[in-house]
Amino acid sequence: MIIIPTDNFMEIYKFLPQTNCGKCEPKTCMAFALELLKGNVKIADCPPLIEESKYKEKLDQLQELIGGEEGKKKELRITIDDELCDGCGICVTVCPVNARYCYSTLSGKVPDYPPDEHQLFVIKDGKCELLALDQCRRITAQGRERECRVCETYCPREALEISYDLVEE
Ligand code: SF4
Ligand code: SF4
Ligand code: SF4
Repeated sequence: MIIIPTDNFMEIYKFLPQTNCGKCEPKTCMAFALELLKGNVKIADCPPLIEESKYKEKLDQLQELIGGEEGKKKELRITIDDELCDGCGICVTVCPVNARYCYSTLSGKVPDYPPDEHQLFVIKDGKCELLALDQCRRITAQGRERECRVCETYCPREALEISYDLVEE
């Protein structure tokens, strides 16, 4: 499954032919953009985009946005820079998954230890440690991913980064 680093399916839609030709499974370009965002279809599933030279520029831009090389998929990565992180714990508190599974976090306190199996982050020895990436809202709930970026947004030291690796399918 390809996970696309954009929060907005309209960003994808603008690079589609926008003709609603009906040659793809969802039949309309808007629905196709949504399915592409969810990873349920590939760029190649839109025949006009691949086959018609007048869409070459759009195709290139869409491939650049999605990074979807054939045979490769995107894998979520969350990195924490130990040099920058001061262990403030804000990411622990704001992550909605942490708050859901850890009552002390929900009330803004230091999370329970040992951490719940769902917990994304914990502060250990004054630094943030990533625990269960597979619980991140960006990749759980097959097809119903949320475009969460709260931890990265609220990290005051810009120590936490969300990115994607391209790996073989
Ligand atoms: S095949 Fe492409 S152009 Fe045709 S409806 Fe689907 S997304 Fe739109
Ligand atoms: S992106 Fe959202 S769900 Fe994922 S680790 Fe960050 S705050 Fe938690
Ligand atoms: S919010 Fe940033 S600085 Fe604070 S603990 Fe998390 S990664 Fe470290």
